[in-house]
Amino acid sequence: MTITSQTSGSSKGQKLEVRSPLNGELLATLPIHTADDVNAAVQRSRRAFEVWGALSYKERRTHLLDYRRELVRRMDEIVDIVHRENGKTRADAAQELLLVLNHLTHAANRAESLLKSRSVSSGLLANYRSRVSYHPFGVIGVIGPWNYPLHTPMGSISYALAAGNAVVFKPSELTPLSGKILVECAQAAIPIPDLMQLVTGYGDVGAALARSKVDKIAFTGSAPTGRKVMAEAAQNLTPILLELGGKGPAIVAADADLDRAATSIVFGSFMNAGQACISTERALVVDTVYDAFVAKVVERVRVLKTGADEHAHYGAMTLDRQVERVREHVTEALENGARAVVGGLDSIKGRFIEPIVLVDVSPKLKVMCEETFGPVLPIAKVASVEEAVRIANDSNFGLGSSVFTKSGGEKLAEQVHTGMTSVNAVAAYAAIPGLPFGGIGESGFGRIHGDEGMLEFVRVKAIAYERFPLPGFGMAFGDPPKVLAQVRQTIKALYGGSAIDDVTNVLRKLVGG
Ligand code: NAD
Repeated sequence: MTITSQTSGSSKGQKLEVRSPLNGELLATLPIHTADDVNAAVQRSRRAFEVWGALSYKERRTHLLDYRRELVRRMDEIVDIVHRENGKTRADAAQELLLVLNHLTHAANRAESLLKSRSVSSGLLANYRSRVSYHPFGVIGVIGPWNYPLHTPMGSISYALAAGNAVVFKPSELTPLSGKILVECAQAAIPIPDLMQLVTGYGDVGAALARSKVDKIAFTGSAPTGRKVMAEAAQNLTPILLELGGKGPAIVAADADLDRAATSIVFGSFMNAGQACISTERALVVDTVYDAFVAKVVERVRVLKTGADEHAHYGAMTLDRQVERVREHVTEALENGARAVVGGLDSIKGRFIEPIVLVDVSPKLKVMCEETFGPVLPIAKVASVEEAVRIANDSNFGLGSSVFTKSGGEKLAEQVHTGMTSVNAVAAYAAIPGLPFGGIGESGFGRIHGDEGMLEFVRVKAIAYERFPLPGFGMAFGDPPKVLAQVRQTIKALYGGSAIDDVTNVLRKLVGG
C-alpha cells in the first residue's frame, strides 16, 4: 500500500510516494521507516562516530571538502530534484545549493581554530591552570522542513559533521529526495559507512528520532511541531535546538533609499513564493514616504512571474494547505479594510499564486501577525520609526527582520526583537556563514551557522589543574577559625572597596609569597 506525500499520517509497512507540486507527477516511492529502523540507524551512526570523532580536524576537513566536491559534481541533478520535488524554480534551487557549499566550506575551515582547547584565567585560584575543551556530542538527529530542503538541514549538518559528530537525518515527507541526495553525496565522498544516514517518513518518524538515543536534536520546522519535538526529546533529556517560524518585519524610515528598500523588500517577500522562515512578511512604512514606497513596490511586483519555466521569478506553493492559508489571510485582510494594489483573491487559482500586494493593512490582522508563507506583501502605514519598532516587536515570533534608513541603521537594528536583522537589505545574514542564525520567542532557540552554531554541536569540558598547593587556598580542610580569618581578610582585600583587582598580587601578599 502507498500513501502520498501530500497527506499526513503514520504508516508501518507503508510506502511514501513523492509527488511533484508542479504537476502531480510521481517522482519516487521511498520507505517509511519504523521506530526500530530509526533506533538501529542511530546505533550504526554511533559506530561511525567512533571513527569520525577520532580523526583530526585536518582529516575531517579533507573529507568535508570531498563531500563538497561530490555535491558540485551532482549539481544539475540536485537542482533538478529540488525543483521537481519542492516546486521552486531551478534558479532558487541553485542558490540554495550555493549557500550549502558556502556553509560546508566555512564549517570545515573554521572547526579546528574554534574548537581547539583554550586556557582561561584561574582568578582566585592562581595556583591552577584552567582549560576549556570541546568534544563532539556523538550522534546528532536532524529533522528538516520542505521549504529549503538543502540549505536548512545543511545549516546544522555541516557544522555537526565539522565538529566531529555523526548524523541521522529525517527530511520532510514532502522533500525526501533532496535529503536522499545530500546523504548519498556524503556517503560517496566520505569512506565511513553510516556517518550520515537518512530515515524517511512522516512526523512519527521524526518523533521516533527525537525519542531515540541521539545526543542532540536539531529541529527546523513550525512552532507547533517544535513543541512536540521538545516533549519527545524531554523523555531522555536530550538537548535540542529549535529553528521555527517567523513573521519578518521590514521597517522603512522616512530617510530610506526607497528604490533600494522596494527592490529588497519585494525580493524578501516573493523569493521562493514567500515560503521562507525569513521572508519579509510585513512592511511597516513611515507615512511621509508611504505612497512613494508603495508606488515603487507596485512597479517592481507587476513584472514578477510565477511558474515552472526558466523565466519564472518564483515557483509553486509546495502544498495545498499553504494555498489555503494564503487565501484565508488575504480574505480576512480584504474584509477588514485592506486594499489589494497588485493581485487579489483571483491571484490564488492553484499551486501557482500570482503576487499579491496589500496596503492599508491593520497590524492586528492575521496577514500581519501569523506566518502567511506565501507570495503576499502586506504594507502598513506608521507615524514614526518608533511606532514601527513597537509593532514589529509586538509579535510572538522573532526570527529575521530588516530596516531601511540612511542614518543609524545598526542602532535601529538593535531595537528590533529578532535574532537577525539586515540593514538596507533582506535576509543577508542567512548567506553570511560567520553569522549565527536563529530566533527568539516562538521562532525557537539555539543557533545554527557561525561559531555559535558550531558550538551547539560540542560538549564543553572544563579542566582545573592544580600546579602547586597554595596554603589556605587548596580544596582541603584546614583549621576552621584560621580559614575563616583568612577568607575574611581575602574578601576585604579583594572586594572591600579597594581598587585592587590583581588577584595574584593580593594572594601573594596574603600567603607571604
Ligand atoms: P513542520 O513542523 O510541519 O515539519 C518539519 C519536520 O518535522 C518534518 O520533517 C516533519 O515530518 C517533522 N515532524 C512532524 N511532526 C513531528 C513530530 N511530532 N515529531 C518530530 N518531527 C515531526 O514544518 P514544515 O511545514 O515542514 O516547514 C515549514 C515551517 O518551518 C515554517 O514554519 C517555517 O517558518 C519553518 N522554517 C524555519 C526555519 C528556520 O531556520 N528557523 C527554516 C525553514 C523553515
